[in-house]
Amino acid sequence: MELFDVYSLFDVTPVRAQGCRVWDADGQEYLDLYGGHAVISVGHCHPHYVEALTRQLNAIGFYSNSVKNPLQTELAHRLGKACGYEDYTLFLDNSGAESNENAMKLASFHTGKDRIIAFHRSFHGRTSGAVAVTDNPNIVSPFNANHKVTFCDLNDAAAVEAELQKGDVAGVIVEGIQGCGGIHIPTNGFLQTLQTLCGKYDAVLILDEVQSGYGRTGKFFAHQWAGIRPDIITMGKGIANGFPCGGILISPRFEAVKGMLGTTFGGNYLAMAAALAVLDIIEEEGLIDNACRVGEYIKANLPASPRIKEVRGRGLMIGIEFNEEVAAIRKQLLFDKHIFTGVAGKNMVRLLAPLCLTTDEADRFLAALSEVL
Ligand code: PMP
Repeated sequence: MELFDVYSLFDVTPVRAQGCRVWDADGQEYLDLYGGHAVISVGHCHPHYVEALTRQLNAIGFYSNSVKNPLQTELAHRLGKACGYEDYTLFLDNSGAESNENAMKLASFHTGKDRIIAFHRSFHGRTSGAVAVTDNPNIVSPFNANHKVTFCDLNDAAAVEAELQKGDVAGVIVEGIQGCGGIHIPTNGFLQTLQTLCGKYDAVLILDEVQSGYGRTGKFFAHQWAGIRPDIITMGKGIANGFPCGGILISPRFEAVKGMLGTTFGGNYLAMAAALAVLDIIEEEGLIDNACRVGEYIKANLPASPRIKEVRGRGLMIGIEFNEEVAAIRKQLLFDKHIFTGVAGKNMVRLLAPLCLTTDEADRFLAALSEVL
């Protein structure tokens, strides 16, 4: 059997990794400014993380959600404290898309309504409902298109209010910072107005923090820069540093009804051991402050070049938009300079480095980019 060939692959085979470094099968070392797409939060193969997962695997690897799991409760308490949402509840699942599906389902249960407002250039995942609120025609099939979704422009509060006034909107879903769509930041004022409008029209405000959350932008969640408290916050990617895990934080106004949400694998022991180790490391190593500091350092020291159009982002979620297509630049960075970067659209190099990136490692990137340009 062969693989269903849906990914465009770089010709690199990583076999080993440590911190922000990855090695391929030939022993070549790479600097990882992509973090496996914003997933590696505390660095590859952190010894505490490896030890916690190994210890858990030797104790018990899996049982279902039909029995008590103290690791889930511990994660809920620890996460509530870490992010400042101690009065919220936690539902655990397996991925970003699943978290968004659960959030929209909850919004619809809660309000009895069935339309969702999403934003142009959004990305919320590849399952049916998550695709429907994603603004990317390449991944929407006729089946997904049957969901009731209306797209508004990011930062256009009047357009959102005009839709909410129609009375059938269950929720508004917005990324803390739009990632795959090209690092577009909702203004603080826009997020604050969204919160007010959702309250006024009985709609649920869902903040997708799958990519922008978990310390990446220098606060635990990107929306915290705006001082808002959404009704539901969705998580994935960095939450367990590569062990599949997702979850949603749910404000106290939602009532849990037995059976309304569920999953086989969500909240399993290994994912919980991984997620708890991630919180330990983020706290012990001050990684949220580090992300803020090193991210600002990169932005402040990028080479001046007429080829760069604009730089956007916060912390270690950075988009460098070029006046040209970036495929060749990224190829040179990867194969000549041995640096992994991400992309958003055709013209943007997107940096999603592990939160432990050092200024020395940032300097290596800055020098390499300067040479490539
Ligand atoms: N939301 C956002 C903002 C994302 O960036 C992504 C993944 N790129 C998802 C949701 C979907 O996450 P997953 O691939 O884990 O389903």
